[in-house]
Amino acid sequence: MNVLVINCGSSSLKYQLIDSDSENVLASGLCERIGIDGRFTFKPENGEKYTIDSEMKDHTDAIKIVLDALIDPKTGVIRELSQIGAVGHRVVHGGEKFAKSVVITKEVIKAIEECNDLAPLHNPANLIGIDACQKALPGVPMAAVFDTAFHQTMPKKAYTYGVPDRYYEDYKVRRYGFHGTSHSFVSKRLIELAGLDRNNSKVIVCHLGNGSSITAVKNGESVDTSMGLTPLEGVPMGTRSGNLDPAIIEFIANKENRTISEVMNILNKESGVLGISGGVSSDFRDLDQASSEGNEKAANALDVFAYNVAKVVGGYVAAMNGVDAIAFTAGVGENHLGIRRRIMSYLGYLGVESNEETMGIRGEEVEISTKDSKVKVFVVPTNEELAIARETLALI
Ligand code: ADP
Repeated sequence: MNVLVINCGSSSLKYQLIDSDSENVLASGLCERIGIDGRFTFKPENGEKYTIDSEMKDHTDAIKIVLDALIDPKTGVIRELSQIGAVGHRVVHGGEKFAKSVVITKEVIKAIEECNDLAPLHNPANLIGIDACQKALPGVPMAAVFDTAFHQTMPKKAYTYGVPDRYYEDYKVRRYGFHGTSHSFVSKRLIELAGLDRNNSKVIVCHLGNGSSITAVKNGESVDTSMGLTPLEGVPMGTRSGNLDPAIIEFIANKENRTISEVMNILNKESGVLGISGGVSSDFRDLDQASSEGNEKAANALDVFAYNVAKVVGGYVAAMNGVDAIAFTAGVGENHLGIRRRIMSYLGYLGVESNEETMGIRGEEVEISTKDSKVKVFVVPTNEELAIARETLALI
């Protein structure tokens, strides 16, 4: 069966059509600048990728363009829309309502809407994508796969913030965590690769990309994670600050006569390694380049990042009273040997030994610790779309 995977943002829509038997990606691409002018990219499995300007006044237009491209007689990959058996939607925030992926019904849509205030930028866009697909593909079963669901197994002590409990009671202020699809996918694979018994395993997944989060997974379940109520918490990221003293928000607002929203915008979009490097870049490749040319701020940004990831990993070793294996995944985790090497060198006290022969391998499954390393360390490429397709198929 072919499963269409949809990841809808406020002005963008990423898609993949996956053949669930072979797990091959038949076509992938994205719609950008929806509601502005519109740009469409299509990459068929065995053909040339193309990008065209194409007017999209809303997400319904965007979905129509995607579907037309999929069945295009010349460049398409299927003959007719009936060859799409199911649609899997990535939904960012499921609050406490969703601990698992679900088949989308009217009740589910209402429950997702009730989580909107927890992710005001993301959930409404995800709902628009669901609505647009339901209009274009009536009767096709659809599933919602939540970024937060995998972390719903966290114990209360891990998700409770040190604030008056009425904020939890009244507004559900707590740690939720994100990248759940990736942490679930990668931790499962890590447990297999390291030859562990799931029911007696302690692993840590470092999802290091533009957004980064780290998760402690005990016996196959998330027991703690570094992102919080929103994806702003945790380690410094591409452009997000990660953890800081909350008093900094008022301090900067007063110094620069800014509103809380303006400061939050700075913490989300101008901070992290981009901010620390003095604006060099949020991309670790550019930071490497600048650092090797002697830019001290870029070098510091790389140091701060690796140091903070290592601190979280160390914290999770304490939280689980041990660790059997660690995985690196996502853009930085899969590709950046310097960052991996630095993080692993902080973990020498655990008996982690890096294997310099495999450390340089990028973007593929590989063990990067030595045979004698007390804790096994692997690179495990994440594949959120495939994970969404698998979940969708299992549900329908
Ligand atoms: P997102 O969170 O947007 O899904 P990704 O997981 O795709 O992000 O990670 C993107 C980041 O991965 C880039 O910003 C870049 O810093 C890093 N990256 C990608 N390829 C490389 C590479 N070859 N070397 C170092 N860093 C890389």
